[in-house]
Amino acid sequence: MRTQVAIIGAGPAGLLLSHLLAQGGVASVVLETRSEEYVAARIRAGILEHSSVELLEKAGLGDRIRTEGDHHRGIYLQWPGERHHLDFVNLAGRSVWVYGQTEVQKDLIAARRAGGQEIHYEVSDVAVHDDHVTFTDASGQSHRLDADAIAGCDGSFGPSRNAVAAAEKYEKIYPYSWLGILADVAPSTDELIYAWHPDGFALHSMRSATVSRLYLQVPNGTDPQSWSDDRIWEALATRLGHGQNGWKLTPGPITDKSVLPMRSYVQTPMRQGNLFLAGDAAHIVPPTGAKGLNLAIADVALLSKALIDKIKNRDPRKADSYSDDAQRRVWRCTHFSWWMTTMLHTSGDPFDAQLQLSQLKWVANSEAGATGLAENYAGLPIGY
Ligand SMILES: Cc1cc2nc3c(=O)[nH]c(=O)nc-3n(C[C@H](O)[C@H](O)[C@H](O)COP(=O)(O)OP(=O)(O)OC[C@H]3O[C@@H](n4cnc5c(N)ncnc54)[C@H](O)[C@@H]3O)c2cc1C
Repeated sequence: MRTQVAIIGAGPAGLLLSHLLAQGGVASVVLETRSEEYVAARIRAGILEHSSVELLEKAGLGDRIRTEGDHHRGIYLQWPGERHHLDFVNLAGRSVWVYGQTEVQKDLIAARRAGGQEIHYEVSDVAVHDDHVTFTDASGQSHRLDADAIAGCDGSFGPSRNAVAAAEKYEKIYPYSWLGILADVAPSTDELIYAWHPDGFALHSMRSATVSRLYLQVPNGTDPQSWSDDRIWEALATRLGHGQNGWKLTPGPITDKSVLPMRSYVQTPMRQGNLFLAGDAAHIVPPTGAKGLNLAIADVALLSKALIDKIKNRDPRKADSYSDDAQRRVWRCTHFSWWMTTMLHTSGDPFDAQLQLSQLKWVANSEAGATGLAENYAGLPIGY
């Protein structure tokens, strides 16, 4: 088999890359270990930055975001007794959209299907070589796929990141995880609530007008089944301030319960020869800053242009600077995600708790502090 770009992974990074390449006249083949149904149903991120929405709209993928997504001007930051609204539009001139990763994935699958994209689902034994990829298809047949470039969009467990032999790796493991639930109940808030509490962090997020997504800080290694539904709602009510200034948290049937460990990871460079990494294959952020999906989109925005120039126009300059260009934003988002995480999660140390509260009060009450958070959360322009 032969194509111009072999893309490993049909997550948001891989499918968006194949879409943008096709729009630029470059052919690709996508390889994915999971089934299409599994990939489309994975529950993960839910916030799209301003630039991500602009890019998806420009690529013809914005219709459902406008009709089914929820436009948010900002977030609430809270600690016991106080809740503050940060208005990103007033502070930074940018906003975010609540639109689940599952929906982004469905839009991408529909667009790629309409475009006749070649995607091989349920492949195995994927191995990256200098100028080709080998794999076994769903029927058990072995293949060799030759390509001008290989895009490693296979997340944190795929083979691409380890194929970059001389990579420098930076990693931080956090001493806590998130217990996340999906609940069939209308959100009790119009915008996300990020809550610091002595019992641990809590986040009230949402997926739609009828589905809420909420998280609790829990110790690493927590078994989600060890938390009954009642216990979860009680902890959420306490940490999110049920009764504070008349605010009420409305519980509802929990349809999904999972524990998400938190880590930061950056690998550099994001290129070796013909292999280019994008998205979670090159970096992982804790979800507190809502950056994982947006970083994947930003990487692919740069990589698609770089590969179109390299393959179609025989101009390698953007491909040569891709890793450095992408890493500027990667490290900015890595810092922001670490900062949000360490400001909001309790460690049990009373000194740390006082510093966190001081930081939160400064962010909420100073225009400079609030603007810094707003600019990073709503997201810097692609190419920053
Ligand atoms: C469990 C979980 C929960 C998350 N929750 C949040 C959240 O609440 N908020 C937030 O902002 N972010 C969250 N994230 C992060 C966000 O979802 C990711 O940053 C985003 O999915 C990155 O997209 P990607 O395409 O780079 O990687 P992925 O979405 O991981 O896609 C990689 C694809 O490669 C495939 N693959 C793996 N190995 C191979 C192989 N050998 N061959 C071929 N294909 C392969 C995988 O099956 C997958 O489809 C979460 C991530 C995870 C894993």
